[in-house]
Amino acid sequence: MKALLIVSDGMGDRPNKKLGGKTPLQAAETPNLDYVAKIGCCGIMDTISPGIPPGSDTAHLAIFGYDPYEYYTGRGAFEALGVGIRIYPGDVAFRANFATFEEQENGLLVTDRRAGRKVPEGGKLAEKLNKYRLKTAKDVKFRFEHSVEHRGVLVLSGSGLSYKVSDTDPHETLQMVHECKPLDDSKEALKTAKIVNELNTAFHEILKNNPLNQERISRGEPPANGVLLRGAGILPKVTPLNQMYGVSCSCVAAAALYRGVAAAVGMKLFKAPGDTATYETDEESIARTVLDILPENDLVFIHFKPTDNASHDGNPELKAKMIEKLDNMVGKLVEGIDLENEHYIAVTADHTTPCSVQEHTGEPVPLVMAGPGVRTDQTTAFSEIDCQRGGLGRLRGKDIMPIIMDYLGKTRIFGS
Ligand code: ZN
Ligand code: ZN
Repeated sequence: MKALLIVSDGMGDRPNKKLGGKTPLQAAETPNLDYVAKIGCCGIMDTISPGIPPGSDTAHLAIFGYDPYEYYTGRGAFEALGVGIRIYPGDVAFRANFATFEEQENGLLVTDRRAGRKVPEGGKLAEKLNKYRLKTAKDVKFRFEHSVEHRGVLVLSGSGLSYKVSDTDPHETLQMVHECKPLDDSKEALKTAKIVNELNTAFHEILKNNPLNQERISRGEPPANGVLLRGAGILPKVTPLNQMYGVSCSCVAAAALYRGVAAAVGMKLFKAPGDTATYETDEESIARTVLDILPENDLVFIHFKPTDNASHDGNPELKAKMIEKLDNMVGKLVEGIDLENEHYIAVTADHTTPCSVQEHTGEPVPLVMAGPGVRTDQTTAFSEIDCQRGGLGRLRGKDIMPIIMDYLGKTRIFGS
């Protein structure tokens, strides 16, 4: 017995006027999702708890079975794992952006949070940054790694560090670079904040004088003369899924965060060719990759990103189109598996992102499960509205994994 768990990011929505009062999921043509709803059991799910808008990181932790209130330790470590950077217990990782700073009397002004988005010099600039030696804490080392475009990761390693520190990123342009502040009274947080502030100044000094930035300026591009840091995090102390249930599990995802959460809970990482996590993503290639790796796995988690992108862009028609792409992927998967005898499939979202709000909100998301022996219900279509009267009722995100593992025969009887 094997299972597929598909999470379509931000798929949940509200009735939308532009769609005649339907949600994008209701408005989309979804014969394959409707088929799974018809042969399976539906429900709605509060990923964290009712009324709490989840971040994608806490939502995925919950869907993988870990109570985020107990296990969430910041986003940075997931980002690092997701781009293939090794981090160890005790390391503090930050999400980083190359940015454009302007020196002012009272500090550094952020004139472009992404330094024009294209920073092909990122790897070379990172090398220069990594030559710097910390003065405030000689027992701490750091590593800056460039990933794609303007993005990177900063990892601090050493004794007495904490992830309870604030961002230097003001999250808006034409704001001053923020001073990093400790978020609790610990000496670890104070020490970490001092290190971050030292690096903020040092990185700007190193970058502003770098010839690659002089070349950028002469080409009319914004210089990558600063680094903004946000989302400090450490590895969560979780028992990985493979140890907890004795299963082999893998993830097929393109975006760093989801790959990182999956890696943190013990999944092997795969990426389908052409999976761009954008509107152009090749959903049939994702399905092929999943079917290729399925023989070696008990559970495959599949992350589908474009639904959330269309939601943040406030475009319900485009979101419906992306849901149709998801439906096409589900169709290819259903063709390649045996839902009568051998395989289970679960499809859900990590949170609701209404196109009318363009941000995550706290409504529950639709959920469907199908496979051998799964009880059916009266639901014959997959949507936020139809799933409300499904047999799974209203669940929490952390309930999904035990239900899947129970179908796979990997749970133990509680009591005797
Ligand atoms: Zn999400
Ligand atoms: Zn989102």
